[in-house]
Amino acid sequence: MSEASEPNDVVTMDKIVSLCRRRGFVFPSSEIYGGLGSAYDYGHYGVLAKNNVKARWMEAMTQERDDIVALDSTIILHPKVWEASGHLQSFSDPLIDCRYCKKRFRADDLEHCECGKKPSKHPGETSDCDLTEPRQFNLMFETTIGPVQESGSKVYLRPETAQGIFINFKNVSQLARRKPPFGIAQIGKSFRNEITPGNFLFRTREFEQMELEFFVPPDESAQWYEYWLEQRKSWYLRYGLRSSHLRLRPHSEDELSHYSSGTADVEYLFPIGWSELEGIANRGDYDLSRHTEFSGVKLEYVGQDGERYVPHVIEPSAGADRSLLAFLVDAYDEEEVAGRQRTLLRLHPQIAPVKAAILPLIGKNEEMVLKARSLYEELRLRFVVEYDDSGAIGRRYRRQDEIGTPWGVTIDDHTLEDDTVTIRDRDSLEQIRVAISQVGAHLAEQLAAPWKTPKGE
Ligand code: ATP
Repeated sequence: MSEASEPNDVVTMDKIVSLCRRRGFVFPSSEIYGGLGSAYDYGHYGVLAKNNVKARWMEAMTQERDDIVALDSTIILHPKVWEASGHLQSFSDPLIDCRYCKKRFRADDLEHCECGKKPSKHPGETSDCDLTEPRQFNLMFETTIGPVQESGSKVYLRPETAQGIFINFKNVSQLARRKPPFGIAQIGKSFRNEITPGNFLFRTREFEQMELEFFVPPDESAQWYEYWLEQRKSWYLRYGLRSSHLRLRPHSEDELSHYSSGTADVEYLFPIGWSELEGIANRGDYDLSRHTEFSGVKLEYVGQDGERYVPHVIEPSAGADRSLLAFLVDAYDEEEVAGRQRTLLRLHPQIAPVKAAILPLIGKNEEMVLKARSLYEELRLRFVVEYDDSGAIGRRYRRQDEIGTPWGVTIDDHTLEDDTVTIRDRDSLEQIRVAISQVGAHLAEQLAAPWKTPKGE
């Protein structure tokens, strides 16, 4: 991570954390027991928003193309998987302990760590610091299968979803009748015993990944790698991230793993600086070859004409929680309207948890309430909408602004006369009048339209 966010952006990580908590998107896990550092639970709007992120990813991968199929493999896999993948041997971080303050740090990230006694200093910078030599620490969580811990077999919670895809290569390619180039997409939980979790949803020990393994003929891997870099970057732009806050950063030679002939990160300019959102790697035939070697089952493509080869793999690997965090950060805004400050999330309508709020102008007016309830009951069959009749209308709008609801539909005096309603746009605050019978069609049309954030490029 480097370079702080530009100074004219009002968003900070603290503001996001506090809005998420205030509006019930995300809050600390196990709070009544004092919390479990860097673990978070998702509340109603958080669940809806993260589901939208995952649904948009899965649509782009499967529904909008015909060369990728979906998979949902188990979290606990045969322990040999992690031998073959190399995780048992090398999925580790170098660790340093301080004998004085008893804190533990990542040796390769000391510049972002705080000294346990003097937080303004980095470890090793005070005369009391007494650091050990770096030791390797495996990041996989262990558990046991079987009733008795001693005799059961040791297994691991997966640190990535990708291996579940590789070991199913044969199954899926046969069952789905696919030949390279084709891909397998999977969304699911992954677990890493991170030494320095933090920055809210950015780095936690339990998180969700959205991973694609795209299998290609070996001589096409370079072009498919370039193709996926562009595809993945444009997916984030399509759902509203500003292009000035998104970049591709190719890894330098010394960052590349030994089997990778190309890796790049999609990075977002978080308030903590440019940081990885997604990694895209050209992994060659490493994974399929290793699983062939360790399982004895040949994972290769065999054509009807006898052609055979081990496909190469392009892997775009994204985090669902980290992506959601980027969408929230990018959407956060504050502005003054008619002398009043408002905070809002300018989320893409397809990511926003609630699409429209149905609001009777006067919550105590029976006729208005009746009309509003009936519109709400009609709309909720097609969209996630919310009904709210409590409190002043201004307060109800502000609440919806903060959860990023793109449209507010208000039932007022005119509605009772001519069956029209006003639709208020979250971003421009423009109000238009629409026949009540047309609200559903209007929302559907707006949701399908391309959207650009008013915050600029
Ligand atoms: P980092 O360098 O940030 O630790 P990584 O390079 O180890 O990430 P990958 O193994 O490439 O990450 O995982 C792919 C994606 O999964 C990341 O780009 C990120 O979006 C997500 N991810 C990885 N680790 C975490 C975590 N601890 N918490 C939340 N998301 C994560």
